[in-house]
Amino acid sequence: MITCKGACFCGTVEVETTGEPVVQGFCHCADCRAWSATPVTAFALWPAAMMKATRGEADLASFSRTEGTVRRHCVHCGGAVMTVNDGGALIDVYPPLLPGFAFRPRSHVHYGQRMVDMKDGLPKYRDLPARAGGSDEMIAE
Ligand SMILES: [Zn+2]
Ligand SMILES: [Zn+2]
Repeated sequence: MITCKGACFCGTVEVETTGEPVVQGFCHCADCRAWSATPVTAFALWPAAMMKATRGEADLASFSRTEGTVRRHCVHCGGAVMTVNDGGALIDVYPPLLPGFAFRPRSHVHYGQRMVDMKDGLPKYRDLPARAGGSDEMIAE
């Protein structure tokens, strides 16, 4: 299985993922936008057992605004590192932090809240797929 290593902006926090994420894509929700200061974020969710902080875990601060979601960033550089979802079952390690990871987005979620259109042919969920507790409603390009 492929192992990918990454680090926060200053390099204090190092992370490692093993295998393929269970889901990957783009999120357009207002929370991700405000947290990342970008118009759209990339996500890749790994089962908790397939991802670990290999260095600097004590330098990760946590912030939670939504129940079940804990966003973690480096206290030194402020760089976003990961989001802990579903009470810890799935960890979103931001694909741009993993240089060796071949990001293959499969869909867009929360496209109904988008700031920018992305006409890339991928499926676009108004909120979330039904399996993730959403309406499963799609938006055409
Ligand atoms: Zn840092
Ligand atoms: Zn989001």
